[in-house]
Amino acid sequence: MVRENVMTVVVPCHNEQKTIKAFIEAILQVQQDLRQVEIELLLVDDGSTDQTLNVIKELENHYSDSIEYLSFSRNFGKEAGLYAGLKHAKGEYVAIMDADLQDPPELLIEMYQMIQDPEVDVVATRRISREGEPPVRSFFASLFYKINNLISRVQLAEGARDFRLMKAQVVDAVVSLSEYNRFSKGIFSWIGFKVKYLEYPNIKRVAGQSSWSFRNLLDYAIDGLISFSDLPLAIASFLGFVSLGSAMIWGFYLLGAYLLFQVSASSISLLALLILVMGGFQFLCLGIIGKYLSKIFTEDKRRPIYLVREEKLFDSNNTDE
Ligand code: UDP
Ligand code: MG
Repeated sequence: MVRENVMTVVVPCHNEQKTIKAFIEAILQVQQDLRQVEIELLLVDDGSTDQTLNVIKELENHYSDSIEYLSFSRNFGKEAGLYAGLKHAKGEYVAIMDADLQDPPELLIEMYQMIQDPEVDVVATRRISREGEPPVRSFFASLFYKINNLISRVQLAEGARDFRLMKAQVVDAVVSLSEYNRFSKGIFSWIGFKVKYLEYPNIKRVAGQSSWSFRNLLDYAIDGLISFSDLPLAIASFLGFVSLGSAMIWGFYLLGAYLLFQVSASSISLLALLILVMGGFQFLCLGIIGKYLSKIFTEDKRRPIYLVREEKLFDSNNTDE
């Protein structure tokens, strides 16, 4: 059941003992100016190894009306935290925010006003600068967006943050994609709906440090590319065609030379031809296997075939779930 006039803020937290309190105070401050909805915080402790959970429990004791929490048995990653949070969020509106105040809480007010428009289902945010971030990281991030948008049909807006405000219907759609290897940025784009972007410059985290190592980010990027594109699987067929194509040209050339000028091919050219033909066939077969694999791969995700945004049916019992 969706709870009217409630905004659930889902916050994945991993080792955020230093930031949570400031974050919650900032949100409560926003509540003062945003009287139209009741803000509820759903904190997801993603297997923190510091005092995060204790801090959360203390705060929950203090503000039991507006804080609830989940705590994982170990660190499952931010994506898992988001999924669990969204699955349990009951508000009419649901926001996703980082605990480190890199997502400015006061933006929630503007986002709330924007989402009142029936033509807007999601208010998402984009960073228009990456100041304060290590340049190497910015470079690789931007490379990732370029590669992704080149090879994948699911386009990603550069600088898009996970920070967003969604209507309950959109949250249901996100949760209905129950794939194990989650890449939320791709999922948000894949589900569609009417998205409006709000832009703001990068802000440094208030305290503590980023939980993402370069290795984590690389894994994340590879997951992103692999989950929404099967192009890498098609590379084998492409190589197969190139090999066979060159083998054909080479073969015709040798044959032509023999027929027209009685030049017989040297054994080395025949060998090269044979290798090209064999290699070509092998790549082609690999490509075919790749095609089947890509079908299994998309099927295995059990993604819904379509998602309804609006509908009006005569028989209301027959609505799409
Ligand atoms: N986070 C999480 N699990 C993880 C890593 C991060 O829940 O394994 C949370 C973290 O507590 C924060 C958000 O995800 O609320 C963003 O993480 P962080 O600030 O470390 O990333 P950055 O802003 O550097 O991209
Ligand atoms: Mg951060």
